[in-house]
Amino acid sequence: MSESELLARHRAVLPNWLALYYDEPLEIVRAQGRRVTDSSGTTYLDFFAGILTNAIGYDVAEISDAIRAQVDSGVLHTSTLYLVRKQVELAEQIAQLSGIPDAKVFFTNSGTEANETALMLATQYRRSNQVLAMRNSYHGRAFATIGITGNRGWSASSLSPVKVSYVQGGYRYRDAFRNLSDADYVRACTDDLRDVLETTTSGDVAALIAEPIQGVGGFNVPPDGLFAAFKEVLDEYGILLISDEVQTGWGRTGEHFWGIQAHGVTPDAMTFAKGLGNGLAIGGVVARGELMDSITANSISTFGGNPVSTAGAKATLDYLLSHDLQGNAAKQGARLLTGLRDIAERYDVVGDVRGKGLMIGVELVEPDGVPSPESARLVLEETRARGLLVGKGGLHGNVIRLAPPMTLTDDETGEALEILRESIAAVQEARK
Ligand code: PMP
Repeated sequence: MSESELLARHRAVLPNWLALYYDEPLEIVRAQGRRVTDSSGTTYLDFFAGILTNAIGYDVAEISDAIRAQVDSGVLHTSTLYLVRKQVELAEQIAQLSGIPDAKVFFTNSGTEANETALMLATQYRRSNQVLAMRNSYHGRAFATIGITGNRGWSASSLSPVKVSYVQGGYRYRDAFRNLSDADYVRACTDDLRDVLETTTSGDVAALIAEPIQGVGGFNVPPDGLFAAFKEVLDEYGILLISDEVQTGWGRTGEHFWGIQAHGVTPDAMTFAKGLGNGLAIGGVVARGELMDSITANSISTFGGNPVSTAGAKATLDYLLSHDLQGNAAKQGARLLTGLRDIAERYDVVGDVRGKGLMIGVELVEPDGVPSPESARLVLEETRARGLLVGKGGLHGNVIRLAPPMTLTDDETGEALEILRESIAAVQEARK
């Protein structure tokens, strides 16, 4: 069956809102290292890593062996009503890495479920259904998380069980405070937080949930210290801080293991998913024990923490720690940023280059500076034609997102930079 036949069948039976990349969507059938191969035999360097799910890359022996050993035992899963050894070991490791005092961990199957759980815990603990979220945020696609997501393109329903108020500090490149210095920006956003609390809430808010670097929103990096300034205000009101580390966790930002650590604060809870499974479905919440244990009814996730996912995740975590992939993310990320800033100087279709570690956003603009989603679409096609897969994002769909596996090599960084330069030049040229 050809890719076009598969596409027709896909369109007929799957929802219209299930987004597909590329004019001619890809079917990946094989993968190795940082490269994936489609059904026509074309191989691509993968700079989106399945939306940051492949922290380490493809076909990693240590991870495949750990999964295979579990499969060979015959037990894919029975139930989390029984003890699961790898679940306990993985939870101990994440609790310790979290830096959260007396931390406990609950495993889910996705980032959405992780955030739903964190919101449920925080609203229950604080006996309030009010939460704060950042403008231009993304937190998932279930009832609470879709409602609080601060980006209308991804928020199909406003019928959320929580009442949300939005705070500034998400999308600095285009927000109201964009012309301020770092220190003044932090002050303005903190004043806004206070104002939002005093004017749109009754004060007894459960939590602020925030991505330390916005993912879907276009890899927006707030000034270091923003969340420390926020936390001072939150502490005055007794409001909890939930850091959504679904994209920023596991050392991807290069500087720190968790994105929130750039701000020098310890949150009450962190949520995680994506990279931990290196492709397997796993997510979770790590929270202060008192918060985690604040619900008294029974609750269970049938598949959350299952033996296959936790075996794969444990092997992934061990691999990324023992190979200092955080250090490599810092090194390759710095090279990419420098190379892309150089490209930005030469082609004015690039309005902004930003990021930390291996989370780098390239915002594309029209000559008058307005967002150019069409340029982003074209860069996706041009890079694909040259053998590179990249992501897209941003409120206006005009940001190219680069987030390769963290095992990226020097040669691959150079190869990607050259393809990006050629592709951006082609898009700039097509505009004339
Ligand atoms: N939080 C963030 C920051 C995300 O980027 C995502 C997914 N893009 C989610 C939550 C939801 O995760 P999932 O798709 O695994 O439900």
